[in-house]
Amino acid sequence: MNKSVGCVLVVIGAIGVCVLAYYLISFAVAGMVAEQLPGPVQAAAWAWIQGTPQAVGHYYESDFPPGYVGQIIEGGAYYWEPMYNTGPGSFLCRIPVEGGYLTSRYGDARTGGYNHTGVDYGSHQRSEDIHAPMGGMVTHAGWSYWLGWTVVVENSGSQVILGHMCCGESGTTGVPTGESTIEVSPGDVIEAGDVVGQTGQTGNSDGIHLHFEVRECDAEGRCQIQDPSSVFLAGQDSLCEWQALE
Ligand SMILES: [Zn+2]
Repeated sequence: MNKSVGCVLVVIGAIGVCVLAYYLISFAVAGMVAEQLPGPVQAAAWAWIQGTPQAVGHYYESDFPPGYVGQIIEGGAYYWEPMYNTGPGSFLCRIPVEGGYLTSRYGDARTGGYNHTGVDYGSHQRSEDIHAPMGGMVTHAGWSYWLGWTVVVENSGSQVILGHMCCGESGTTGVPTGESTIEVSPGDVIEAGDVVGQTGQTGNSDGIHLHFEVRECDAEGRCQIQDPSSVFLAGQDSLCEWQALE
């Protein structure tokens, strides 16, 4: 074997070692990166987010537990992972807004091709007290892209969502448009009737009102928006005609 053939073989061998090393390092790095990514979305919750025709709003990371951040939600949705807290079973069949009155029913058609997911109660002026209709644990008290300042109360798999609270301007945005006057914090156990905040028009709201929404969550973490007049919340022993209250 002459010298030049030997040289070529050495060069080919060196290239081979380099290629092998490149792939080994790539696999190692890929493994490290994969471990840093958020875990897979809980299958049932993901199916709900993808599948429900009633989901409205837009994806905003504060509405999701950490594992959901970065996921693109088809059609837009807001979602709070249920925590299955069981608090006192108190309930009040009464308009949750001080001096409030019905302004929109559950299921009303809305521009954009969806149906209203809750019941709206108007408020003659801003900053009227909002009372929790159901006792339980506060699992969210903060800003939501679609609902503005929002409180979520949970009890035994039911979620009561109270949105558009004071204060700030209306508009769908991930950035708060004003200071919140919410009076509860996540983890608080409250009774029905407790004041959680005041009326406003934050989020997707064209006037001062409360958006009151109910979801029932199953053991797999799948929550379905419900007609509030058709469900039994914790402590509730007969149906409440939310749209007939005065
Ligand atoms: Zn509403």
